[in-house]
Amino acid sequence: PVDATALSAWIREFADLVARNRDELTALDSAIGDGDHGVNMDRGLTAVVAALDAEPPDTPSALFKKVGMTLISKVGGASGPLYGTAFLRMSAAADSVLDGPGFAKVLRSGLDGVVARGKASPGDKTMVDALTPAVEALETAFAGGADVTAAFQAAADAADQGREATVPLVARKGRASYLGERSAGHADPGATSVTLLMRAAASTLG
Ligand code: ADP
Ligand code: MG
Ligand code: MG
Repeated sequence: PVDATALSAWIREFADLVARNRDELTALDSAIGDGDHGVNMDRGLTAVVAALDAEPPDTPSALFKKVGMTLISKVGGASGPLYGTAFLRMSAAADSVLDGPGFAKVLRSGLDGVVARGKASPGDKTMVDALTPAVEALETAFAGGADVTAAFQAAADAADQGREATVPLVARKGRASYLGERSAGHADPGATSVTLLMRAAASTLG
């Protein structure tokens, strides 16, 4: 079952991957933004792990809430409120124990929160371009009777493809949009951090 312990392992693995890829995320954001996405996410997730250590949440809802509140308070950039809103929406949608399809429903709520907050559509070159196909892949996999391992792998692969697809795009949201046509030719930083989120899910929940 996807319970608070499993979800906490997921978030810790995400924090680990972000720390290890911090410089890559920052380099991507230097190309089309202000060069702080790796630092922003690493700072926020380091605080999240400290908060989980201090007081381990005992339900998925409590865990997501702690993650969301911490990201909103510790990350100054656009990504803090956006990831934070995703986790707060996931908190509101989460049952006490989640099965695979239940997790897919929760992640869909998180995506809806990002879209409500940031108003980005697929193709605007944002984190939505990786998260949308990941959620769709997860839903499709479970609808087709896939096991959790296959479903989370499919979601991670879909996020990777969504991120790759941001390379040629011209940004229409966030700081990268200030560059206009010059934002094309680089992957979106937020879409890249979403690939780490989904890779962490595949290795801890799948
Ligand atoms: P900032 O742009 O404030 O420095 P970050 O560098 O941490 O914040 O995050 C930048 C990322 O946030 C972008 O790569 C993009 O994926 C995401 N982003 C920015 N604006 C939006 C938005 N309106 N909707 C969805 N995602 C967005
Ligand atoms: Mg930035
Ligand atoms: Mg910034």
